[in-house]
Amino acid sequence: MSVFEHRSYDDHQRVAFCQDKKTGLKAIIAIHNTNLGNALGGCRMFPYASGEAALDDVLRLSRGMTYKSAAANLPLGGGKSVILGDPRQHKTEDLLRAMGRFIDSFNGDYVAAEDSGINESDMRIMALETSHVAGFSSLQGDRGDPSPATAYGVFVGLQLAVQQRFKTSDLKGVRVAIQGVGNVGYRLAEMLHQAGAQLWVSDVFAANAQRAEKELSARVVDPSDIFTQDVDVIAPCALGATIDDTVLNLLRAQVIAGSANNQLAYDDLGAALCARGILYAPDYVINAGGIIDVYYQRQGLPYAKAHKHITQCITDTLKEVFQRSAATGEPTNLIADQVARNRFDPQSSAMGCVA
Ligand code: NAD
Repeated sequence: MSVFEHRSYDDHQRVAFCQDKKTGLKAIIAIHNTNLGNALGGCRMFPYASGEAALDDVLRLSRGMTYKSAAANLPLGGGKSVILGDPRQHKTEDLLRAMGRFIDSFNGDYVAAEDSGINESDMRIMALETSHVAGFSSLQGDRGDPSPATAYGVFVGLQLAVQQRFKTSDLKGVRVAIQGVGNVGYRLAEMLHQAGAQLWVSDVFAANAQRAEKELSARVVDPSDIFTQDVDVIAPCALGATIDDTVLNLLRAQVIAGSANNQLAYDDLGAALCARGILYAPDYVINAGGIIDVYYQRQGLPYAKAHKHITQCITDTLKEVFQRSAATGEPTNLIADQVARNRFDPQSSAMGCVA
């Protein structure tokens, strides 16, 4: 299959492959759309089963960044990069520097930040080869890790979804199950705990779940059981595509609101959730806090400004999505796509093209 016919191609502007035999780097950079500005998106390192799996991931993620930045009212386009390899085994300084040179070859059309498998110190190594990297603390005053901002945005979105479904913005006693208490999930758990919510958590890395049990009185659940808990809200904060047909039939929660990208295994699940009365807060609308923070960091602006943007933008966009969904019966994920597309591609929106 050629790249152009790939099921996730969706009008990408540019897709580039890099193989550097000297350092072992195998990577792909995808730029989906730059109508609103240069593409900004994370660089992920993962031991993909095949080049095909890596291509599918980078295309889906990069498209998601276009929608996320548009929904967040940022002057940014969507892009993403992936490095094929196990971050625990194959990551070397030479490989990261080669990735920095690959990013640099885009002359700023694509700016990379950290993602799964790539941390702040990795970004600093790439920065030795290019200035087109973001999301790490620097002498220029950048705050670094955007996870706290992401967690805050998810908290705002989750609270709004609870208000929409249960008619109360008070989280006291609300039962929330969090899948994955890593950088974002743990901070979300802290905020929910502070607001009086009851927590259930699962994590394949047992120490993370135990920390939440000790510090936040969370109940630890086996990772395979998290979606069957008798709770009000499910917050997927681990991996993408965790909501599938099997999970759909097991869910007891009435709200889904979490940080993971591409939570629905396929788009039509949005309608199925709607039919079951489960309110889905679209992932890229409520997990945009991190990209908003990175954008403000690159402008040299303080967190207070990013915080204001996160609160206002996630509240306004999510309210619009929920109101339109309630009025039309259309699933929230498709309404969010329409809202975002209308911002980055108003012409095709006007012609009725919904991605
Ligand atoms: P992370 O790697 O720090 O945390 C993920 C956690 O999930 C880890 O503790 C991991 O052990 C756990 N996990 C993995 N598989 C699991 C499973 N099957 N069941 C239970 N736990 C599992 O990552 P993060 O930075 O916290 O990001 C979490 C999610 O949010 C990711 O999908 C990421 O793409 C998305 N996201 C993150 C940011 C950000 O700013 N970090 C921004 C937007 C979206």
